[in-house]
Amino acid sequence: CGVFGVLGAADAANFVALGLHALQHRGQEAGGIVAYHPEQGFNSARRFGYVRDSFTSADVMETLPGSLAIGHVRYSTSGSKGPTQIRDVQPFFGEFSMGGAAIAHNGNITNAVALRRELIERGSIFQSSSDTECIIHLMARSLQKGIPERMEDALRRVEGAFSIVAMTRTKLIGVRDPLGVRPLVLGRVGEGWVLSSETCALDIIGAEFVREIEPGEMVVITEEGVESLRPFRPARPRFCIFEHVYFSRPDSMIGGRSVYETRRQIGVELAREAPVEADLVCPVPDSGTPAAIGYSQEAGIPFAMGIVRNQYMGRTFIEPTEQIRNMGVRLKLNVNRALIRGKRVILVDDSVVRGTTSRKIKEMVLDAGAAEVHFRIASPPTAWPCFYGVDTPQREKLLAASMSEEEMRTHLAVDSLRFISLDGLYRAVGEAQGRDAAAPQYCDACFSGDYPVEPADMIEQGFTV
Ligand code: 5GP
Ligand code: SF4
Ligand code: MG
Repeated sequence: CGVFGVLGAADAANFVALGLHALQHRGQEAGGIVAYHPEQGFNSARRFGYVRDSFTSADVMETLPGSLAIGHVRYSTSGSKGPTQIRDVQPFFGEFSMGGAAIAHNGNITNAVALRRELIERGSIFQSSSDTECIIHLMARSLQKGIPERMEDALRRVEGAFSIVAMTRTKLIGVRDPLGVRPLVLGRVGEGWVLSSETCALDIIGAEFVREIEPGEMVVITEEGVESLRPFRPARPRFCIFEHVYFSRPDSMIGGRSVYETRRQIGVELAREAPVEADLVCPVPDSGTPAAIGYSQEAGIPFAMGIVRNQYMGRTFIEPTEQIRNMGVRLKLNVNRALIRGKRVILVDDSVVRGTTSRKIKEMVLDAGAAEVHFRIASPPTAWPCFYGVDTPQREKLLAASMSEEEMRTHLAVDSLRFISLDGLYRAVGEAQGRDAAAPQYCDACFSGDYPVEPADMIEQGFTV
């Protein structure tokens, strides 16, 4: 998901809509905005689909007045298994004795099932199936006098990954979980303040990057400025390494590094680790493109757009049902036949999850008359599900959970298949010594099975780590 908030700018909701539009790659199912105006109070709008369709008309935007607003774009990873329901669309809102508060969350709470059960037993009435709603109910039960203090109380009971943007009548609040699994940055626009999942959404409104919110930090922003708090026990950060590989936009900066440059570097590492003789390096667009550029540069094999993407489709993986996902590949990608015929082709993609995409693409490339097909993947084999906010399927559906690299190659029926090593990936994100096995610098659980936060709800449901 993507989160965005603005304090101290006229018609803040317009900025939020633009920010969410720039974060659309983080969630395409639905979006929501809450705004506060001193006379008109809190107002909200929640819609299915793209921001550009939901939050551009004057009809909607006029209902969201005020200089303080937050918003969310949704990509469902927990809660409702079927299609998103409107009641699950954030921001969530709660009315407390000291006033209202709205909250938008990116990540996934790993003890939400247990918390929900406890809260329902004690009388809470849930409105949605979302893990995030626990936070509102925990805040309602806190005895603290202020809303930020109630949020601290609530979040100390919550486990897992959370980057949160919240608001009261006068405050914009940002929080990152102690490990800082998901990103969150602070920016300035004129005299106002901005919180955003990624820096690319600061650019779209002409905001200036100030700094990242630190892992375990809570910022409470008012017209007077930014107050920084440390509500949690300190921990060694474990940022999601997959944000670098796939999730973030290539024009964002993370930890002072360009995401594009990191991805290009992954391609360079891949070319060193897994060279092969071929005529063309083709990305599986768009997610494989920067790595393919790096591979081509390092290998000295020409780069070509052998596969063309229809820009009017969303990310196939993000569509929640298997049927749509299966159709998706052909709707979205097509082979540039004239270019491919008779060529030995290296295809570069960011990841293999179920293997559906790679299989379809291989068939399409062979149909087009390719002489050989070699897959190079910009992440290690995805052998474990993510419980921290990326929607990987159950372990049984992950190709790499039950197959070796050679078995996957046979399954996909390609001439060769190689994944970047975990150390190679760490080098590409700037860790010259690779992965520190005793104290890994990132979360890489979907590749290593080393879960930095125990997935308590999943273990209760029988998942074994
Ligand atoms: P597969 O077809 O192997 O299940 O999916 C792999 C493709 O899904 C890759 O091309 C990747 O770009 C795309 N993808 C989209 N969203 C995600 C995600 O959240 N996780 C992973 N691992 N891949 C994703
Ligand atoms: Fe990121 Fe993978 Fe960790 Fe999930 S399990 S937070 S996708 S590195
Ligand atoms: Mg892709």
